[in-house]
Amino acid sequence: MKHEYRRRHVRMHTLTMDPVELLSRLVSIPSVNPEDTADEAITGEARLVEFLAEWLGGRGFQLQYDEQAPGRPNLIARRGPAPARRRIMLEAHTDTVSVGGMTIPPFDPQVRDGRLYGRGACDTKGPMAAALSAFDDETLDRLAAAGIELIFAAAMGEEKGNHGAQGLVDRRLVAADECIVLEPTELGIVHAHKGALWYRIDVAGVAAHGSNPDQGLSAIHGMMHIANQLKQEVNGRPGGPAHALLGRPTLNIGTIQGGRAVNIVPDQCGMEVDRRLLPDESADDILGYARRALEELRRAGGIVSYEIKVIKWGPPFHTSAESGLVRRLKEGAANAGVQAPTGGVGWYSDAGPLSGVCGEIAVFGPGSIKQAHTRDEYIELDSLRRGVEILRNYLRRSAGGLNA
Ligand SMILES: [Zn+2]
Repeated sequence: MKHEYRRRHVRMHTLTMDPVELLSRLVSIPSVNPEDTADEAITGEARLVEFLAEWLGGRGFQLQYDEQAPGRPNLIARRGPAPARRRIMLEAHTDTVSVGGMTIPPFDPQVRDGRLYGRGACDTKGPMAAALSAFDDETLDRLAAAGIELIFAAAMGEEKGNHGAQGLVDRRLVAADECIVLEPTELGIVHAHKGALWYRIDVAGVAAHGSNPDQGLSAIHGMMHIANQLKQEVNGRPGGPAHALLGRPTLNIGTIQGGRAVNIVPDQCGMEVDRRLLPDESADDILGYARRALEELRRAGGIVSYEIKVIKWGPPFHTSAESGLVRRLKEGAANAGVQAPTGGVGWYSDAGPLSGVCGEIAVFGPGSIKQAHTRDEYIELDSLRRGVEILRNYLRRSAGGLNA
């Protein structure tokens, strides 16, 4: 398999503008997240970035590489006047999930029944191809003439925690007035999503023989008490925080481990929590609540000690439905014959970290999240083509041209 992939990468540099051909090329370049698979023949984002650099360079973009990890670069491509009057960014992640258990050839894209099949076809090489295909001469010229700098950012490592986008933000490599994060939204405009706070709690008790539990202090019982309190913090307050677009915050206790044997009072217990929060909630408040509950329990003699560790923090975002970005995207969709729904979602994306450096931000793209990560991943070509049209209309409207 290894050599087969290598061979196919040769002669991939035609600057095609056809979205189906372009997507075929993107899919045929494996870019599996290395945290998912050990096979070096298909992992890493570098090969895809090489292709994107050639393609974007050929369209007149200035390129900047950002080697976030060995063999795993981000790419920032800019085109237009400097200094710019306004900056518009389109961003796509370059990694895909693994290919284990797939029922179709993952990197040998096949077009049939109005669909293109292959790993990444919908998540997120389809939306990526739609954006690139929207960068025709006329659109690029109009943007430049209007004093707008167009940025295309390709970010590594999205599937395992938005590392690339976070790195671009941390190193201050990107910023924009408006940003579209390219993900399969079925051409709907996602202008809010929840934040994700993953954290771990460890508590210590005192071991004793199971026949004599009074001699010990059960770390598992202590953790059960904390778990109930955390659940209450999210669910317990009637009419508590709720968001017009996102509903209520959620809490999931994803893992819990504790104890050493059935006949020993457990002296340790660990638990991992996935808390999805609303734009008006703060991670500090949530961790503060957990810390207070643990401290209270410790003082009451329910545990000996505790520790809290953040595993991942991804901020939420909310761009107004009345914003210029959402309005022009919606108008661009209407021009393409699509009544694009607007709203919020529960899943997470690079829009979380990027919201910190972009005035207005939304997630948008052809294809359905239902086909993401599946064994026979595909994208509807009709959706792909409409995606191109909508993104092109949006860009032209942003440049001031009313007729897309
Ligand atoms: Zn994705």
